Amino acid sequence: MKKKNSHSPAFNAVTMTDPLFRHYVSIVPEKLIPYQWNVLNDTEPHTDPSYCVHNFRVAAGEAEGKHEGMVFSDTDVYKWLETLAYCLERGEAKAYEERADELIDLIGRAQEEDGYCNTYYSVNCPDRKWTNFAEGHELYSAGHLIEAAVAYAHATGKTALLQIAVRFADLICEKFSSDGALANACPGHQEVELALIRLSEFTGEKKYAELARHFLQVRGNDSDFLMENLKQQGSARIFPEFADYDARYAQSHLPPEQQQTVEGHAVRAMYMLSAMADVAREFSDEAMKASCLRLWQNLTQKRMYLTGGIGSSGHLERFTADYDLPNDTMYCESCASVGLMMFGRRMAALTGDASYYDVVERALCNTVLAGIAAEGDKYFYVNPLEVWPANCLPGTSMAHVKPVRQPWFACACCPANISRTLASLGQYLYAQDEKSIYVNQLISSTLKTDLHGNAVFLDLRSDLLMQGRLQLRISAAKAQPFTLRIRIPPYLEEPSFRLDGKPISPVIENGYAVIAISREGDQNLEMLSLVNPRWVAANQAVRADSGKIALMFGPYVYCLEETDNGSGLPFLYVSPEAEVLPAPPAEGLPGSLPTLQFHAKRLDSGVEHALYGSPSFRFFDVELKAVPYALWCNRTPGEMLVWLRAAL
Ligand SMILES: [Zn+2]
Repeated sequence: MKKKNSHSPAFNAVTMTDPLFRHYVSIVPEKLIPYQWNVLNDTEPHTDPSYCVHNFRVAAGEAEGKHEGMVFSDTDVYKWLETLAYCLERGEAKAYEERADELIDLIGRAQEEDGYCNTYYSVNCPDRKWTNFAEGHELYSAGHLIEAAVAYAHATGKTALLQIAVRFADLICEKFSSDGALANACPGHQEVELALIRLSEFTGEKKYAELARHFLQVRGNDSDFLMENLKQQGSARIFPEFADYDARYAQSHLPPEQQQTVEGHAVRAMYMLSAMADVAREFSDEAMKASCLRLWQNLTQKRMYLTGGIGSSGHLERFTADYDLPNDTMYCESCASVGLMMFGRRMAALTGDASYYDVVERALCNTVLAGIAAEGDKYFYVNPLEVWPANCLPGTSMAHVKPVRQPWFACACCPANISRTLASLGQYLYAQDEKSIYVNQLISSTLKTDLHGNAVFLDLRSDLLMQGRLQLRISAAKAQPFTLRIRIPPYLEEPSFRLDGKPISPVIENGYAVIAISREGDQNLEMLSLVNPRWVAANQAVRADSGKIALMFGPYVYCLEETDNGSGLPFLYVSPEAEVLPAPPAEGLPGSLPTLQFHAKRLDSGVEHALYGSPSFRFFDVELKAVPYALWCNRTPGEMLVWLRAAL
């Protein structure tokens, strides 16, 4: 019997009212959909051609030429369609529905007779289909097609894209299931697994979930599979620059149930872990669940940045060793933090434990928002915690770190991944099961949902950072008992509650304050809690942060920018006792998050004219201003720093 877990409400059920998140969510239909449409169609004047839509025209026989761009360029189209679907579900970006339908028709014309759908292989090398599992990304691309198709069918009721995806999924089932010709093949980049689970849930067709489980079961059974597969490619290798590709890079060194540490390419790891949590839930697979719990611990306790960034090595975008968290050379890909949110949401649904949302919040409020410009038209792929623009040089080990957001990328996974996350953000705010509504993020918003025939409306207004107060109006159409579970994040100090003006002491269960609601009509819950800016140190095993402190306010990590504090940020020293005062928001930044001001000292080594000399240290008093890391580089670009040297 399948266990009933919590699930997210419909994508149109949640409306953002928080000024910061309302801004980012509203730019999706207003700016991101039009901008990215232009990029995909090569009509955006400020970016190089992406060839994304062009490739489908060539595959359909409607344009001349070869497939251009990345081998997985189709996924940028699919993620755009998925994002649009979430917008359409809320009645937004309607002007793009017709264009999307035409695009879907084109995808249909590019699909082959047997259901195969991949413009790179169809056009450039049809004889090499299903041969390069390490680099070919065919199953990865199929996964994004499936996700887009489910989202689009759900939003519009139109099934053309779903039919394309189902035909391809059926072909994949035929080839890769345990009795298929490719039963031993292991996908080089995970994604198809979680997409198949989603397709199974949407269609009710169990075989897709079975195949998702099969893909996880086959992974790591033969730890040499992907390496041998690469050797067979010879001169046909797609990414010859990835000479260091190894089994750990693709998490195929061991079966997922046996993996002890989170390894390899961070995005691959997050997509695999998300699928593992899905399979653990779908099949009540306790071994898979145990592995998810173990890997979550390793990930969040030893391999995650304060900002929810992951992937310590710029080379190969991967995890390294426990506590290896360098602040300037790391990767911290935007997609990896999106993947961390995906994994965390699934773990919370699987376990009912609110603490997973502490990490989701950390990733969302810091790295994911930092990945996109306030205007929506520029993006970070790599998200450092320390930037010195002068050393972010091409042709060096810092080439991957960009000191300013880019209009687009040759490998453009991140922009559309951020867009689809923002467009479907409601799924990270609320969840529900048979008896409860879960308030997973304390972000001002409304929820309109149905709990077994009881129409429930929540209006959450949080002013915790500035006023220490959260108000929640609960309107239920019927006197039908349910519980409201409100996540109490660790930064809330001794929260107190009132329901309709009367003090209550709710039980705290799995990190949620549990409040029984039994009557119809309106009830007003108030939560009071002090939230103060706080200095944070890293575990003493983190070498990069030794002797340093960082500033947080609620879930937001703060940083120093050159535009407020001058250059030479690493020369600043601050006392862990330094008083921090909230000040008005910085001009030109979205939302209303305060800036934070504090006293510090600037070090002068006394060596002025020679490169080296006798130390003659002197400190000068300075007043500093920190801004939310999420919003850095939205004003005059320059240096940025999260971890400050502590004055002891
Ligand atoms: Zn990415």
